[in-house]
Amino acid sequence: MTEDLNIQITCPVCEENFEKKAADLHDGAIVKCPKCGEKTTIKGDMFTDMVKNIEKGGHA
Ligand SMILES: [Zn+2]
Repeated sequence: MTEDLNIQITCPVCEENFEKKAADLHDGAIVKCPKCGEKTTIKGDMFTDMVKNIEKGGHA
């Protein structure tokens, strides 16, 4: 199972990198940057890219 997997997100405003649990992310999910508070909506393409990055062999 991959529920405990963390996905790295880069804030589009301040470029802060932060992690969210994969289980919390889905198409249309909103994540808030811990640094600047920018809210980013996870869109289908973005999510697909993140999953691809994991499959490429991150630290799963
Ligand atoms: Zn930010």
